[in-house]
Amino acid sequence: MRRVWMALVMSLSSVWGLGGCAAPTHGFKLYAGAPEDALASRPTEGDSLQVTYLGVGGYVLRHGSDVVVLAPSFSNPGIPSLVVHGLFGGLKWEPDQVKACMTRAEQLAGSTQNASLLLVGHSHYDHLMDTAEMLQSGQWFPNARILGSATTGHLLASFGLSTRFEEVTKAASRNGKPGGWIPNDAGTVRVYPIVSDHSPHFMHLKLLSAARLTEDATKKPSNPRSDWLEGETYAYVVDFLREKDGPVAFRLYYEDAASSPSVGLIPDDLTQDGHRVDVSITCVGAYEQIPSSLYPQEVLAGTHPRYVILGHWEDFFGNDCLKPPSIVRMTGRKGLSRFIRRVGEVTPESRCVLPVPLAPTMFIPEGSDAPARSGPACLPVPPVEDVVWGAPVTTSGTGN
Ligand SMILES: [Zn+2]
Repeated sequence: MRRVWMALVMSLSSVWGLGGCAAPTHGFKLYAGAPEDALASRPTEGDSLQVTYLGVGGYVLRHGSDVVVLAPSFSNPGIPSLVVHGLFGGLKWEPDQVKACMTRAEQLAGSTQNASLLLVGHSHYDHLMDTAEMLQSGQWFPNARILGSATTGHLLASFGLSTRFEEVTKAASRNGKPGGWIPNDAGTVRVYPIVSDHSPHFMHLKLLSAARLTEDATKKPSNPRSDWLEGETYAYVVDFLREKDGPVAFRLYYEDAASSPSVGLIPDDLTQDGHRVDVSITCVGAYEQIPSSLYPQEVLAGTHPRYVILGHWEDFFGNDCLKPPSIVRMTGRKGLSRFIRRVGEVTPESRCVLPVPLAPTMFIPEGSDAPARSGPACLPVPPVEDVVWGAPVTTSGTGN
């Protein structure tokens, strides 16, 4: 009886908390993708990093012939669907929607068939449901090894994916202690997991279960609230190397959920190894639920990236990847503006990118003499070298 009551309370909270409208994006400088000629001349050697935002926590990272995928989500059920399925189960992916989105992403960003690694930060439905189905279908990322938490592995067991899964628990840095690198098979990419956590969703409540699994799931999860369990949450540092076991060409930091103070931070052994973080992917969704207003400043103070990508920013409740995005409800225009302002306060030298889903962004290496193109900026930030290939910078509009 108590479980039914809790389910009802959580479902009503979802309706109350998330039932508002998504906000329009005018006034914000959205990055709508690298121009055709930049993509057509996409280097085959490792002299650029292409990051394609897929929406929610999903990305395709490409460096030369190396491709790494960060768990995509395209089905994105609406609030009514989540409430019904949160009470009665039965949530399923939308294969046609996934195919349409992923086909478009590959048209713009290139094939993902040779992806060597797929990283999962945590196991909520909006990070793992489509990913699991896509992997099981064999149609996408057929050779990628899957890295994630123990809970992610136990959930993926019900999709027959155990042999492709590797748990990152032992390699992960915890409380600042050094972790370890996990290389891809070719030795040209390496991944360093960091124990992190996941912000509450609304009014300091977690509307989706934060529980962990200790045994393999015996049937596919179907309840977005109580089956797709958060599990442990990990941030990742991804190094793309110039050659097998060679020097670092690009370093990227990724997290798919806003993290609490003092967790998910890049540990000292990485800040002192001589490689700066080039790109830091942050999480806008529910960031204001983190206490002390410390997100994302604390994470960015540790990474001091050249570029900050604002991820998980668009409204993903019943959205369509092929239509213009809105700002995620509960964060809204003011919340997004505050986030951008915080980025500017803590790392004023960093370039800020607010990516349109399915739009590839091209980054060139620090100190490169490759031809500079004007780059995007989320809000007016102090002028810096234009080293992102993309749309011209404009400085009007503050998006309040
Ligand atoms: Zn989540």
